[in-house]
Amino acid sequence: MAETNQALFERALRVIPGGVNSPVRAFRAVGGTPYFVAVGHGAYVWDVEGRRYIDYVQSYGASILGHAHDKVTEAVRRAVAEGTSFGAPTEREVLLAEEICSRVPGCEQVRLVSSGTEAAMAAVRLARGATGRDRVVVFAGGYHGHADALLAASGSGMATLGLPASAGVPLDAVSHTLVVPYNHCPQLDERVACVIVEPVAANMGLVAPQPGFLEALREECTRCGAVLIFDEVVTGFRVARGGASTLLGVRPDLWCFGKVVGGGLPLAAFGGRREIMEQLAPEGPVYQAGTLSGNPVATAAGLAVLSLLDDDSYRQLSAFARQLGSALAQAAHEAGLEVQVPVVGPLLGVSFGPEPVHDYAGAQASAATGLYAPLMRGLLREGVAIAPGPYEVMFPSLAHGQAELDQTVEAFRAVARAVAAEGP
Ligand SMILES: *Cc1c(COP(=O)(O)O)cnc(C)c1O
Repeated sequence: MAETNQALFERALRVIPGGVNSPVRAFRAVGGTPYFVAVGHGAYVWDVEGRRYIDYVQSYGASILGHAHDKVTEAVRRAVAEGTSFGAPTEREVLLAEEICSRVPGCEQVRLVSSGTEAAMAAVRLARGATGRDRVVVFAGGYHGHADALLAASGSGMATLGLPASAGVPLDAVSHTLVVPYNHCPQLDERVACVIVEPVAANMGLVAPQPGFLEALREECTRCGAVLIFDEVVTGFRVARGGASTLLGVRPDLWCFGKVVGGGLPLAAFGGRREIMEQLAPEGPVYQAGTLSGNPVATAAGLAVLSLLDDDSYRQLSAFARQLGSALAQAAHEAGLEVQVPVVGPLLGVSFGPEPVHDYAGAQASAATGLYAPLMRGLLREGVAIAPGPYEVMFPSLAHGQAELDQTVEAFRAVARAVAAEGP
């Protein structure tokens, strides 16, 4: 018989720091033991104890069709049988690059990499190399992977040079990184190489860009010759066929993609205007490389997923999110719990308080209520899995249907009542 979650976690703790291979998977923020997934199918995962959950984690957005989609597993199976990595170019790399460029107007060339972290790190290096400038502007509460220069936290004040957000990041590594509040366009000068932004913030809960914010950033970058980078690792091929830049009508100079584009395998990309991308080695002086970049199995998965995503898919996902969002908000209201359920296209967030959140300060205030933990644990007991941390969002997939929606709302209603009665 298989191990229990608890037994596996205890073994994991001995050989893996914190028992997890990415800290967001730990249950530190909510308490309890992580469930170890045995199998995923469609909208569901089953843990090693045989318990079933409606899954809104979906690999933090890497899965959009639902788990183990037939077409994707078949494409992967076929690719694996033909060899898993060569160190020479393959046809599928060209096909995937063509597919990305055709979906995202203005993105003329892409380079495939293996993680969103790599994509953001390389995009920033490219922007610095192309402009000959050093400064990078990031937004508080944004996440762009764990490259040193992007692990910056704001100090005090409105716009300030970054402080290391992690031990092991030297002050020097973030001394050119400015951290400013989301949803306010900073004034830039000619020392700024690039501004990197999540066009819809999805790592401080879900925070929509306020009208005019991205447009102002576009204008300010153009005015002072800085490169505008949209980190679309979450939003790319998630919020619309062409991602957030097409949904919101603002075009950056460079894009970072990840999650959906890899079809659940380790693949990401960055791309943009040809004149900037041509600064990359071997064409230009900006070095970037990867043994497994454009991996033949990962490209097969990415191509299979993208081939199944058309405008109808996004209409379906968005309709689901809209319906779920208003039902959850209604259920919370009836329970007497002050909950905001922001919805942007197919993405949903949950925050606590009387007002929608617009920036990291608001997200922190929501988290400080301590209400996310009992909500998350309660939902898990009811068979609904959301991420074990208050700064994450919900990722409904195309496999989530009416039955899952109804069951989610019913679970949420019961849990919201209990949380309203018992508090954090
Ligand atoms: C997940 C994420 C990343 C990092 O991607 P990894 O594949 O985890 O390295 C970067 N940017 C955003 C917006 C993300 O959500």
